[in-house]
Amino acid sequence: MAMRAQVSTSDTESNNEAHHCSVAPCEGQVAAELDSKPLCVEHFLTVSIGELESRRRKLKDEAFESSETTAFRDLLSSCAQQAHRLSEDERNADTRVKARLLDILLRASQLGQSLRRSARVESAVSMYVRLEESGRTWEEETWTSTLSLHGAGLVCRHLVEKGGMVILCRKDKGERARARVVYCHYDGQGRRQIGVEFLDRPDFWDFSKQPQNEPA
Ligand SMILES: [Zn+2]
Repeated sequence: MAMRAQVSTSDTESNNEAHHCSVAPCEGQVAAELDSKPLCVEHFLTVSIGELESRRRKLKDEAFESSETTAFRDLLSSCAQQAHRLSEDERNADTRVKARLLDILLRASQLGQSLRRSARVESAVSMYVRLEESGRTWEEETWTSTLSLHGAGLVCRHLVEKGGMVILCRKDKGERARARVVYCHYDGQGRRQIGVEFLDRPDFWDFSKQPQNEPA
């Protein structure tokens, strides 16, 4: 992504000044704004798609950090609102531009659904995490910090490496799943968090059995 263009903040406070698109060296007329960066229509299209795509991959590949959820939600609504507004603007009547704006709207809405599905259960689920290897076996009682369709983030005091295999066992149902460690890091409270993805249990959290709409 292009670096933020130099914006003169000399004396003027007004955002309505005729700033041009922040993607250098574009000098296009500002039509939208993402992340406080003014953008022309063309760059709104490419920047939005890029942002949505990178977050979609993240949401798919690993447990999405709950701290990122709010920012993601804001981005989605900002993309959707502006895409909608621009699509109704006569100046964007060009079929190609319009199709891409509608594509952004569609993606934003699909991502919103995945995000809700993925972030729905941020509550902790009590579990055992086990390592079952010959000569090296341990088990600890823990809880999840994030759940996603394909995995979870959880607190783990034992040292496990990225790429390692563990067994997760739900305390409530006794169900087990084999999982691969996809990340390890310390959270803001100094606890080791690991992210895992399931190898043989696609719907360990019963997402598909949960209602699509929560009560308001
Ligand atoms: Zn531009």
